[in-house]
Amino acid sequence: MRNTMIGLLAVTMAASAASLDSRAIRAQALPSGAAAPPTTPLAVPSGKLDDALLEWPLPPGEQALSTIDGRRLHQLVEEQAAISRRYRDQGHPKFWGRIIGTSADAENAQWLASKFNAFGLTDVYIQPLDLSPQWFPQRWEVTVTGGGKSITLESAQPDYRAAALPAGGIDVDAVYGGFGSAADFVGKDMKGKAVFTYTMLGLHNEEAVKRADEKGATAIFEVDMLPGNMRYQAYPSNTRAPAFTVGSGDGLAVRDLIASLPPGQTARVKATLEIQMVPNLKTALVWGTLPGATDETVYIVAHRDGWFEASGDNAGGVAAMIGLAEYYSKVPRAQRRRTMVFIGLDGHHNTGPGSAVGGVWLNDPANKARLFAKTALSINCEHPSTIQTYVRPRYVDGDALHWSNMYMAQQWYAGGPSRPELTAIAVKAFKEFGVPLLTEPDPRPPAGDLGRLYRFTPGVATSEFFHYFHTDRESPDTVPWTGLQATTRAYAKIIDEVNKLPLSTFQRPEEPVPTR
Ligand SMILES: [Zn+2]
Repeated sequence: MRNTMIGLLAVTMAASAASLDSRAIRAQALPSGAAAPPTTPLAVPSGKLDDALLEWPLPPGEQALSTIDGRRLHQLVEEQAAISRRYRDQGHPKFWGRIIGTSADAENAQWLASKFNAFGLTDVYIQPLDLSPQWFPQRWEVTVTGGGKSITLESAQPDYRAAALPAGGIDVDAVYGGFGSAADFVGKDMKGKAVFTYTMLGLHNEEAVKRADEKGATAIFEVDMLPGNMRYQAYPSNTRAPAFTVGSGDGLAVRDLIASLPPGQTARVKATLEIQMVPNLKTALVWGTLPGATDETVYIVAHRDGWFEASGDNAGGVAAMIGLAEYYSKVPRAQRRRTMVFIGLDGHHNTGPGSAVGGVWLNDPANKARLFAKTALSINCEHPSTIQTYVRPRYVDGDALHWSNMYMAQQWYAGGPSRPELTAIAVKAFKEFGVPLLTEPDPRPPAGDLGRLYRFTPGVATSEFFHYFHTDRESPDTVPWTGLQATTRAYAKIIDEVNKLPLSTFQRPEEPVPTR
């Protein structure tokens, strides 16, 4: 039955994104010990994912928006992923991406400015911003031994801002911690040990890492149970002990090793982690402007940073922003009611003290008053297109993530409860252009960079965070061109509809800082 399922793709995760032809569908070998993946061919003659994706037709009367072409937008995702890979290949095999303050950040800023210049935007400039010392893990290695076996955890990745391990590393007992709930830890001594816990996106958050830290663990390994053996870059755990994420291939091997030992024997964990805090780095905001018929403004922003190839988060968003810049650069100025300002933001993956310096700069009272006094709309383009994947779907063999030919519904925000007109415009546009949404809006924007602007500008954001988010498998093929096209066209429709209405329809007093 499996072989007749139309349009269902079976792609398992590649340990190395570089080894995958990102435009073709083929099964990748799973780590040793995992079940063989199914090899269902894609039910299109070319066998290419690109050709299998479902494309939403243009609504009647919207022919002008046909020039927003998802396949061209996808090329921009590819170009940004290539910037990440160049950085990886320059001696950064494990902690790589378009990371703030690195050469990849600088290259990406130049690349974006060159796009803005190519479309004839005015006031294109790269505004440098100073960074506080940035966290860079230099070297780390984790090996688990027991019963004559030894496993090197290739997928182990320190959580952002994790503390270094002592010079020379640690050599301690391993403890199996299950889900990491209080019940899982009953009767287990974690003091001075290396604790392994197991979780997955969608499971209840047991605060396992925090709990193991409170129990005195020396190092904590949080296994992500998604199929494969992906490297996942987590945000800070804010624990005393360093925490690492581990792919399920490695994590299950450790679990099985622990289970294989005779009573009284324990597995041992040897681990090193060297950290450097690098001072005097810079990032940047990248600006471009399309002057309109008035000095009222519409802002289009997208964060430039991200981990690994960072295709969904956020090359897709940057591509959508560039697509809008190109589209409106061809509309005569007199027909653009408001001046459009595009900003490639530094981003926020360097979570912690001194991060998100671009957002801080934009929130400076003087800058805020000067820039946003006449703003009718701000759109944050963030993760606008994500391939719909399924974990171990029922009646389909193989321990694999299965791909579909459709993009995912997004979390969304459109002006909040005080701006019903903006919400109505956005919902109508998303529906007409085929952008699936969760049925309820977020009361505040989905996590991301609109959080820095929505309290004082009428904001719109859509976003999705799924299986490949922050992993070394977040390659361009996880960003369907069809979703890029649908979302970017909908954004354009929202801009056009907002531009038919006066500023007063959308502007509101600044909202308070949320207390959550
Ligand atoms: Zn993001």
